Amino acid sequence: MLKFDEALQIVTSSARKLGTERVELGRASNRVLAEDVICDIDMPPFNKSAMDGFACRRADLTNELTVVETIPAGVMPKKKIGKNQCAKIMTGAVVPEGADCVIMVEHTEVLAHNSSQRSAEPERDRIRFIGKCTDSNIAAKGEDVKKGDVVLRAGVLIKAQHIAVLASVGCARPLVTIAPRVGIIATGDELVEPDRKPTACQIRNSNSFQLAAQVAGASAIPTHYGIAADTKQRISAVLTKAMAENDVVIVSGGVSVGDCDLVRDILKENGVKILFERVAVKPGRPTVFGVADEIFCFGLPGNPVSGFVMFELLVKPFLYRMMGHDFKPTSYRGQLERTIKRKNAERDFWLPVVTGYDGKVAQIDYHSSAHITALCEADGLICVPSGVTEIKEGATVVVRQI
Ligand code: AMP
Ligand code: MG
Repeated sequence: MLKFDEALQIVTSSARKLGTERVELGRASNRVLAEDVICDIDMPPFNKSAMDGFACRRADLTNELTVVETIPAGVMPKKKIGKNQCAKIMTGAVVPEGADCVIMVEHTEVLAHNSSQRSAEPERDRIRFIGKCTDSNIAAKGEDVKKGDVVLRAGVLIKAQHIAVLASVGCARPLVTIAPRVGIIATGDELVEPDRKPTACQIRNSNSFQLAAQVAGASAIPTHYGIAADTKQRISAVLTKAMAENDVVIVSGGVSVGDCDLVRDILKENGVKILFERVAVKPGRPTVFGVADEIFCFGLPGNPVSGFVMFELLVKPFLYRMMGHDFKPTSYRGQLERTIKRKNAERDFWLPVVTGYDGKVAQIDYHSSAHITALCEADGLICVPSGVTEIKEGATVVVRQI
């Protein structure tokens, strides 16, 4: 059976890019940047006050200072600061020439006050520094980023903090990679849609919606193709349509070895070259991956936990690779609360866990790969690798966040 790493290598190396497009900043969140972004200005663009206070010379801190002007943010200073002078200054304003520090307003005492100070020339405020010492409280021009620096690299998954950088450097329409369109087909005679009450032998189709949410969460574009009954004709018809309209198709169910598990054969009959059909992962062994004319098809097991796990492990990195992003799951370490033992160690075994603030990693009680509510209590998955039969209580484990 194919090892998981080999399967991952096959899917990620098969991924093809879909080109690029420019989008408005407001629509760039969760897209993948397709170009390096260069800063077009120094940041900060001028020596900027980090405080509301008075800009002055450090050498004059023990003296009374005369306020020569007020400098709000967005206004150029008109005066140079000379000996025993200062300018009242607001956070974000340009520090005037001659000043080498800004003393906080909280560290000053007004000695003489002129009510029309902003316009008054002859009769000015005088102030005094009453603090013990002061930082410069000046953010120097270019101290964060210099004009011409690369601020973001192609391949970055754009989050809120990246949006702020793009905005700051004037990249109002970033170039991003085109997101794959993903068609989702549920198979199974027993399935009804969630708004229907199942009869005694039916269950609701949860996989299509779970997968669509996972696809959207991975920055791709899901489309539902409903439920196909377990006949070659029905599945084939829906598959043909989904393959014509998408870059990737995910078929849920029908990939194991039952009489009604027809998906693998149907994929082959539709010209899909199967690259693998079993992976050494529990849950999720009968996972199928193939390609036809640059359209990629995944067949995922129908059990919801299996589908969830295999999407996380294989499909998500694949979709991001199509967008030019190297997906790295968020993971953290913790101490296993209860020993895990197993006899058959043929496959990587993924288990839902919850991690406490004390770093203790507790397994969630979980009956089978149909037990979807178990995943709702979990904040991560841990892996017992193939070949390992026991992980002892207290051992350090890596939790993959879900
Ligand atoms: P299969 O992979 O088709 O053999 O299905 C395995 C199990 O998953 C069966 O118990 C199915 O009823 C269940 N199952 C299949 N498809 C879905 C679905 N779309 N939503 C929820 N459960 C499903
Ligand atoms: Mg089925």
